[in-house]
Parts: sequence; C-alpha cells; structure tokens
Amino acid sequence: MPKKIFCYFDHAAATPLDPRVERAMRPFFARHFGNPSSLHFLGRNVHRAVETARQKIATALNCAPKEFIFISGATEANNLAILGAIRGFIQATPFNRATDAQNHPNIIVSELEHPSVSAAAESLRKAGFETRRVKTFKNGLIDLAHFQKLLNQQTLLVSIIMADSETGTIQPIAEIAKILRAFRNGSTSLTVNSSTNLPFLTPNLPLLHTDATQAANYLGLNVAKLGIDMLTLSGHKIYGPKGVGGLYIKEGLKIEPLIFGGGQQDGRRAGTENVAGIVGFAEALVVAQKNRITETQHVKKMRDELAKQIFHRIPKVVLNGHPKNRLPNFLNVSILDIEGEAATLMLEKYGILVSTGSACHSQSLEPSPNLVALGRPYEHIHGSLRFSLGRLNKPDQIKYAVKKLVEVVKKLRRISPLNLTLTPADSKTPAEPRAFLGGQTPHFLK
Ligand code: PMP
Repeated sequence: MPKKIFCYFDHAAATPLDPRVERAMRPFFARHFGNPSSLHFLGRNVHRAVETARQKIATALNCAPKEFIFISGATEANNLAILGAIRGFIQATPFNRATDAQNHPNIIVSELEHPSVSAAAESLRKAGFETRRVKTFKNGLIDLAHFQKLLNQQTLLVSIIMADSETGTIQPIAEIAKILRAFRNGSTSLTVNSSTNLPFLTPNLPLLHTDATQAANYLGLNVAKLGIDMLTLSGHKIYGPKGVGGLYIKEGLKIEPLIFGGGQQDGRRAGTENVAGIVGFAEALVVAQKNRITETQHVKKMRDELAKQIFHRIPKVVLNGHPKNRLPNFLNVSILDIEGEAATLMLEKYGILVSTGSACHSQSLEPSPNLVALGRPYEHIHGSLRFSLGRLNKPDQIKYAVKKLVEVVKKLRRISPLNLTLTPADSKTPAEPRAFLGGQTPHFLK
C-alpha cells in the first residue's frame, strides 16, 4: 500500500500549539497556581506574568498595555467591541429608545464578518439600531464606494474584518480608517440633533473595529499605523491555546462590560484571568509577529504551487476570493460537479484535512455566507474546498495532496449527476447552473 502522508490544511479552523508556547505555559498550570488578584507572593507572581504578557502584546500592537484586555477568545472580543462600545455610547449619552431611534443610529459591517460580529450587530436591531452591510465585489473585496454611501451622521461604529476566514481576502483597513478620519474631521462642524441632544457627531465617531483573528500570523498589527479603535485577536489561530484572546481598545474609548463581577482588567472584563492561556497567547503573538515575513514566504510558495497544480490538473475549477490580495496561506476553490462534503471526507481517508465552507458552518448544509456574498451560485459553493496552510506544512505534502485530490475529483465526477458549465470567455465567471431545485432560487439567496 502506498505511503499515506498526513496533511493538515485547516489552519483557519485551528493551529497546532507551538512547542515554545507550550513551554511558556507549563509553569502556570500547577506550580504558579495563585490568583492574580491575591496580595501574597503567589498572587503577585502570576499577576506579574499577566502584566508581562500584556506588555508583550502592547509592543507587538504598538499600543499602551492598558489599551489591551484579555478575554476568552475572538467571539467574546467581537461581542464586546460591538455591544460594549454601543452600550458605552448609550451610557455616556442617555438614549431614549422611543424618540432617538427615529434618528436611525446605525452600525456598518461587511458581509464577510464572523457570526460573532454579524449576530452581535443584528442583536442591536432590537434596541433600535440599524445594521448596514457593505456590498462585496465578486473578487472578495468590500465595495468602498458603497461603504461611503452607507456612512452618515448617525453611524456610530464600523466593523470590517481584516481578512475573512473563508477566502482570506484582505480588506483595506488602513484605507477605511482614512475615509473615517476625513469623515470625522468633516463632521465636527455639523451640529448635534437639537431635538434629542444626541451627539452622534463627535470627532471620534464612528469608531472603527477590525477582527484580525485570521490575519494575525501574516499582517502587521500596528494599531496606530492602521488608525483603528478596536482590534480582535484569538489564541488558537496563531499557534496558541484555545479559550483565550484579546481586544485592543484605544485609550479614552468607553466600553461597557458584558461580564460583570470583580474589578479585573480595570473592570472591563471581570473574572479571574486565564493565566496559562494569557501567557501562551502572548508568546504565540510575539512569535507570529516576529516571523510573519518568513512565514509568509514559506506558506505562499506552497499555496501557490498547490493552486498552480490544481488549476493545471483539474478542469472546471473556480478560485474564490481575491487572486492576489489574500492571506498567503489561503486557497479556496470551487471544484465544479462535486460536493465539497464528499471530497472532504474522501480526502480525510488519505490523511488530508481540509474544510468546505467555514468550520463554523461545517455542521450545517447551509452554504457559507461569505461565498454567497461573492455572488457564487450555490452549486459552486457546495463544491468549495478551503485549504489553509501553516507553519509545519512541507512541499512533499502539496505534491501528495494534489495527486490524491485529482483521484478524488475523478471518482466523484464519475458518479456526479451534475454537469456544470463555465462561460467560455472567462472561467472566473461561472454560468448560472440549474442543477438543483429545477432552477428555483434557494431560500438563502432570496
Ligand atoms: N473571528 C474569526 C475571523 C474567526 O475565524 C473565528 C474562529 N473561527 C472567530 C472570530 C471566533 O474565534 P474564537 O474561536 O476564538 O471565539
């Protein structure tokens, strides 16, 4: 039997723990078990470890340590950024739901956000806020002209993902920050709504938040240079532990906590700190940011070879996401006439782990909203495979994976009832398939 090579290509779902991170964490499980809030030396020791971790992260982000809080992961960080900032605004500016809602205070998000942003934004609707979604071009970039149209005097917050978890397309965050800066400067001269006294127009609104969870291994996170107000990170996407992450909150920004309790972390996130997790998360971020250029070269070379071989050896394949402006480890393709779920399971038998749609959606057959946002027909989305490479991948894995993928696609196409077509002029513009539902529009596209 030919040798099976284990190929882990699902780093967007979770990265393996870096041994350096594991080593840094180890003393904080048993030996240094104190509570960071305790006054005695056991408490002081671990408190010091937490503050050292915060300092390391602050250096990596070019912010002050007090501008960064540790939290249970990117889901909570995104929730806090959206809900905490809006609640902070309401507290500072008593908001009368009955009358002030008429002013339609709004927040703007992209269609490519993780559910921890989009669902949090959606929940604000019940409190009288409007959620506006920026359109996405077919190439995965958000439409900046549409963004500027959505922006108005009642926009309180903008949350745009730095690079999405489905195609890895990198959004122009610094440019968005620039647009907001110009908008804020222009808006300072506008007057406050006199009937409600709602100061929507202040020099620091709208706030800008970005979810950098997927981007943190490869892109710079200098928050001052990016010009952002809040930034989300997660440990387990950067070769660190799960259940820990953080939120950068620009100094002066009032955030109302979501978790109430002890006064930890300046009262912005109550609960005894996950000390081992925090130490590991900080170590992981330092390693990731220090090596991001060499890591980029390493994964990009393999990712490009994988793409080249797939497009060369398998007919009818469509790239999802931006051809150039993507994270260097992402390759998302739609392989026509096959189902991504079937391909994923067959590849696993050969030791090749990939995903179809986002990991967050893998339990459901609903197509990934990120691919729907690109205007892909749903048959193409069902044939999508996401390869997300990482630090430990080697070129021989790429060669092996391509060979097996070619076999899997041949097998699946032999039994497939589908025969989708691409427009002859441009294989990147798929023709509308009519394979399922007799050509009816499925509910999620209506
Ligand atoms: N944002 C993005 C872009 C993600 O990819 C994920 C994880 N899939 C999250 C947020 C949620 O992260 P966590 O698992 O740390 O809550």
